[in-house]
Amino acid sequence: MMLLTAEGIRPTPTQFQDAERTLLHQIEGTTAFWSGRAATSLYQAYQLARHRRPDVSQPQVIVPAMMCATAANTALLADVQPRFADVNAQTGLATLSTIQARYTPQTIAVVVIHLLGHAVDIAPIAEWCKAYDLLLIEDGTQALGGRDLQGYAIGTQGDVTVYSFNRTKIISTGNGVLVAHDDDTAQDLTALAKHITFPAVTDDMRLQLALSYRNLHHALVGLLRARAVPTEQVTQAFMAVRPAYQALYLRPADTTVDLNRPWENLPASLAHRLEMARLYAERLADHPAWDLLTDYEQSGVCWRFSLLLNDPQQQVSFSEAVRADGFHVSNLYWAVNPFFKADDECQNADLFSRRIVNLWVDESVSTEYVARCCDSILRHAPSD
Ligand SMILES: *Cc1c(COP(=O)(O)O)cnc(C)c1O
Repeated sequence: MMLLTAEGIRPTPTQFQDAERTLLHQIEGTTAFWSGRAATSLYQAYQLARHRRPDVSQPQVIVPAMMCATAANTALLADVQPRFADVNAQTGLATLSTIQARYTPQTIAVVVIHLLGHAVDIAPIAEWCKAYDLLLIEDGTQALGGRDLQGYAIGTQGDVTVYSFNRTKIISTGNGVLVAHDDDTAQDLTALAKHITFPAVTDDMRLQLALSYRNLHHALVGLLRARAVPTEQVTQAFMAVRPAYQALYLRPADTTVDLNRPWENLPASLAHRLEMARLYAERLADHPAWDLLTDYEQSGVCWRFSLLLNDPQQQVSFSEAVRADGFHVSNLYWAVNPFFKADDECQNADLFSRRIVNLWVDESVSTEYVARCCDSILRHAPSD
């Protein structure tokens, strides 16, 4: 119902309205705030958290160590210190106990991310957040349309829920959204949104900065993987240049895109992803070189199909070999705590980062592609 534009808040345009109606119905939301990026939505959520806890002078938010760095970058933009919760070593997901381990009296919010489409056990986290007066920010981007462990729609448990519809996401036509689940929250968010000013940055500059950020991230992940320098040096390097990228995070909604049509296609698109994942799982099952992440079966959403290599030393050579055969494969899904706060150690997230290899299941891949990709994977499987 709300669109964040450079000229202020406007009503949702028609080309978003069917998508909005479906989304609000699905996750029991009352109001949607559309902007150009989920990063902007996360920033709004942090502003809300600060507004709700005026008693805390140096606020902190607990975010999972395994995620893209956006939730931590936007926390700093909102003057909230990110603290990093470790993950379960097998699933890569944060749990109530890893989150509780980072609690301090300065904590004002918790971000839950359903990584790779896999559902976090959010019900106990929601209960704990309520008891401690913490805003629960749920990021459903990678689990759009999924089911949680209780069988409810993912996205219903947070005080606010965030989705990105930008490049590489399940719907990738553009924009992000923040959903409020009650009228008080919607009113607070509306009042806060009136004060957001979008940085003046040209498309060309944004592109340059985005590419630079990507290269920086890849370069630093390379150093961490090789253990080439002490982690603190990576933290220092990243934190020193991080402010240069701030213009990227706040972005008004792009009204030139149609969100209604991809929403109509969502069930078919999720079914395709599940089918591709099923093919990988069938061919790659019970192999001594890796474990498969199969929690997508429970949530019904697969964002990427992931292997956890048993030997972290093989992560680069194995994925480069499969890539050289012409397949999309990523080994850059890395824990973010070393970039921001080296002393929030997360041993499980570190090991998970060194083991994970991600494969594509979106519309760019077909049954035939997956079959050939599995041939390549099995051919290059690390052996001891
Ligand atoms: C990509 C991503 C974001 C950031 O989305 P933008 O729209 O690019 O700001 C946030 N959360 C998750 C889980 C993501 O995968």
